[in-house]
Amino acid sequence: MKRIFFFEFRQESNTFNPVVAQPEHFNSGMPFEGEEMTKLRLNTRHSVQGAVTAIRQAGGEVIPSMYFRAPSGGRVADKVMEMLKEGIKRHLDAAGEIDGVYAALHGATCTESEDDACGAIIEYVRGLVGDKPIAVSHDLHAKVTEKMLRNAQIICGYHTYPHLDFYETGYRAGKLLMEKLAGSKAKMATVAIPMLIPPAGYTTQNEPFKSLIDMGDEMVASGKIQDYSVFAVQPWLDIAGIDSRIITIGEDMEAAKVCAGKLAQRLFEIRDEVQPPMMTVDEIIDIAEKNTSGKPVLLAESADSPNGGAVGDSPVVALRVLERGSELKTGLFVTDPAAVEHAFVVGVGNTGTFTFGAAFTPGVPGPVTAEGRVRSLHDGWWTQEGAAGRGTAFCFGRSAVVSFGNVDVLLITQGGASGDPQVLRHFGIEPTLYDLIVVKANTSFRAPYTPISDLVYVADTAGACASNLHQLKWEKLPKGVYPFDLPENYQIAEPAVW
Ligand SMILES: [Zn+2]
Repeated sequence: MKRIFFFEFRQESNTFNPVVAQPEHFNSGMPFEGEEMTKLRLNTRHSVQGAVTAIRQAGGEVIPSMYFRAPSGGRVADKVMEMLKEGIKRHLDAAGEIDGVYAALHGATCTESEDDACGAIIEYVRGLVGDKPIAVSHDLHAKVTEKMLRNAQIICGYHTYPHLDFYETGYRAGKLLMEKLAGSKAKMATVAIPMLIPPAGYTTQNEPFKSLIDMGDEMVASGKIQDYSVFAVQPWLDIAGIDSRIITIGEDMEAAKVCAGKLAQRLFEIRDEVQPPMMTVDEIIDIAEKNTSGKPVLLAESADSPNGGAVGDSPVVALRVLERGSELKTGLFVTDPAAVEHAFVVGVGNTGTFTFGAAFTPGVPGPVTAEGRVRSLHDGWWTQEGAAGRGTAFCFGRSAVVSFGNVDVLLITQGGASGDPQVLRHFGIEPTLYDLIVVKANTSFRAPYTPISDLVYVADTAGACASNLHQLKWEKLPKGVYPFDLPENYQIAEPAVW
């Protein structure tokens, strides 16, 4: 029986978010290993469950070890990486002989001192397990590096955005790993594409991205390759060598290279089409003031999306509505722990002077200083309603709703999943009763907000997840990357085999 060691380490880093993710940001206070966590992860339809199912179906045995999961955010504390490595080594030492490794990794994770944390952890495990095969599952937004390719034999990414195929992706990785152990000669063909595209501009459910995924599915269905992944890197990583990448896996390496080249060409071709149309905050306020549909205008402030790794601290829409003296009934949330604590001091029903917003992210307009009335105080727990994670509980930490005239602001201690109507609804800001609702998300909000309103406008604002990538202060951006200084006659390179 083949024995497969596995672990999980998932956090999407945004290097423009200055808040470091500490150990307490991981697992919502749950342990990092042990039976309780194994049971929880194997009962969740996620990558780990998918991989374990595939391994067991092929007659394998699984050896659980460490689990580290955190919401998107800033760089991860080095301490977290040390805890992970220590745990992996300890479990490997106790495991005896193993035949292979499966790792559920995000793929776009930076620590305080390491830009390629996932590559570093794969390399570390490689050092411990010798030449045993390693299979990895990644997010579609992963930054796949040479270090990963050198140390893992199998790399699989999600095919969906919004991400719905966690389980299926883990299953693909687990299945390919077991096939490798059964003698498969499949290898990876891969090619990098020097392009960054903002996630607010596409989903895999619609064109032009949909036909790219269809093309990959067809290559697998026809038997040309066994697997493919499209890694459209999440663009908020100010790291050396950032790029997007295609990987195909097959036994016929000529076919795998041809398929990788075709997918790369197609991804490259759609680069201009996937740029989201954006408007200024004032243009969207103008639209909302003229809106007589009875439905709220949804202002997507994707630049401040906690799902994309931003802090959620932008008060720009409250700022503009108040400065304009607009009568729009407006609802939004703003991450600002000091303002939350002030609301607890002021107390429900009382009025005080508040200063809120722009507390963390450089370049975000604000803060706002205004008289506000505290409407309600909360422990910050809420439950997701949208289909993708229906029933999942999240916690914002201590939170308060404060009214500044017709602008209702949910002040929260820390950001988290952000595209769900319950983010506001749970705290008494019922989106259907407002004129203007700020949604701090890229794409995840579109499905759950569909019954509420189709009046969606993406705002061009500053923030760690700015879709306008030119807004960000880059220091390590490599030369020759779209949408910056890509040479006009750029040709996709020949795919390489790993
Ligand atoms: Zn992603």
